[in-house]
Amino acid sequence: MCKRIYSVVFIIVIVMIMQFVTMSTVQAATKQYYVVSTKTAYQREEASVASKALNTLVIGDKVESVSSSGEWQEIKAYGVNGYVKKSQLMKVTSKTQYLGIAKKQVSLKKSKSPKAKNLQTIKKETRIDIRLVAGAWCKVSYDKKTGYIESKYMKHYKIIDVSNKPKLPIVMTSTARYTPSMLKTDLDKLSVRYPDRMAYFDFGKSTWGTPLYCAIVGNPNAQTKILINGNAHAREYMTTQLMMKQIEQLCKDYKKASYNGVAYKDILNDVALYFVPMLNPDGTRISQDGISAVPQKYKKYVKKVPFTRDCPNYRMWKGNGIAVDLNRNYPIGWKKNNMMAGSWSGEYPFQATEAVALAELCKENQFVFAINYHAMGSIIYWRDKHISDKKTRPLANVINGVTGYRFVYDNNSEGGFKGWFVYTFKKPSFTIEIGTATTPLPISQFNGIWKRNQYVPIASAKYFYDN
Ligand SMILES: [Zn+2]
Repeated sequence: MCKRIYSVVFIIVIVMIMQFVTMSTVQAATKQYYVVSTKTAYQREEASVASKALNTLVIGDKVESVSSSGEWQEIKAYGVNGYVKKSQLMKVTSKTQYLGIAKKQVSLKKSKSPKAKNLQTIKKETRIDIRLVAGAWCKVSYDKKTGYIESKYMKHYKIIDVSNKPKLPIVMTSTARYTPSMLKTDLDKLSVRYPDRMAYFDFGKSTWGTPLYCAIVGNPNAQTKILINGNAHAREYMTTQLMMKQIEQLCKDYKKASYNGVAYKDILNDVALYFVPMLNPDGTRISQDGISAVPQKYKKYVKKVPFTRDCPNYRMWKGNGIAVDLNRNYPIGWKKNNMMAGSWSGEYPFQATEAVALAELCKENQFVFAINYHAMGSIIYWRDKHISDKKTRPLANVINGVTGYRFVYDNNSEGGFKGWFVYTFKKPSFTIEIGTATTPLPISQFNGIWKRNQYVPIASAKYFYDN
């Protein structure tokens, strides 16, 4: 009797296991994939353009299909489910190696020869499923036909499965060339990935008309606000990269980390951090790309600017798009000097639109403290004749404790931002000089700079949280 029951139970279990195995094989076999076929595509929480974006996907990203709903496709990317417009996707199989885009009207050939039979004519911009790249020819699948297209007539995008991929860092620190357009893209991506922790807006325009951006990390309605700005000097664009990395790290740590015993979210709820990572996008373009980056309208003018020993070529350009030094154009201690690519104070104070925009931002927000990132020297300028040392020293000690950078006891203004800020608001402002090599700093300097500056924003916020 007992034996019989055992046998029955055994058989039932076996049948159940078999059913489960068959079911999962069926499921595995029906798993479908899409590839993003437009430059970028947002994966959204709901099937609506008004809905929150979960991920920014790029061309070639392979995602797993979940379900279909009208003109939207539910897909899985970076481990989460969400919706992408069907018009931005192309169905692929496990055999697809590349997404191809026809550069012009092309012929789908029966074999790898221009003389081979024409199976179909494919229009320019058509998205094509590339199965194999074999030298001058690609084996493709199109409209249920398999054939060949000449490789040179197609753009290739490698297919990368991101369905279950962990999220990659947004801010690139593998090369030093951090451009104004990378800044915009990264601010966009950060605000999409961390909408509840970070937002950005433009607060003015550069001389050439490029928007100037400010990113807020923390509670935008906080009573206490700190300003952290950088890249006033063109060739010092590693300060931008550093600040962007600081923003990303703060967003990552926001909900789980604590600093000296207090949760980031508590600190940043009371004290908001305002970052201006790139005050000088025009000058940065000159430093990165030379005279070719200058718009036609300003070319003649920029070519006339004399180089100096401190600024001997475009790579070492310091000023803005018309050579005004953005750290010598403020009215406190301003002195007229000759036009040059290095430290020209401008025709008159506040000539530079960038300096005016930053001053306005300060007036609107009444920051309690301003950090000005420059390069290089690994030093901190903290004193100013318009504020007592007694008032600023404890804060200077905090920044010195985090960075290990030594103090410099110079308190002159000379038309700089720091002097203007302290004079105007009677609040502290420090200039932190990062790095130890000639600017533009090489990327080999970044890790050391990062180690010393990672906690500067949260340590500053913590100081004002406590005091
Ligand atoms: Zn500088």
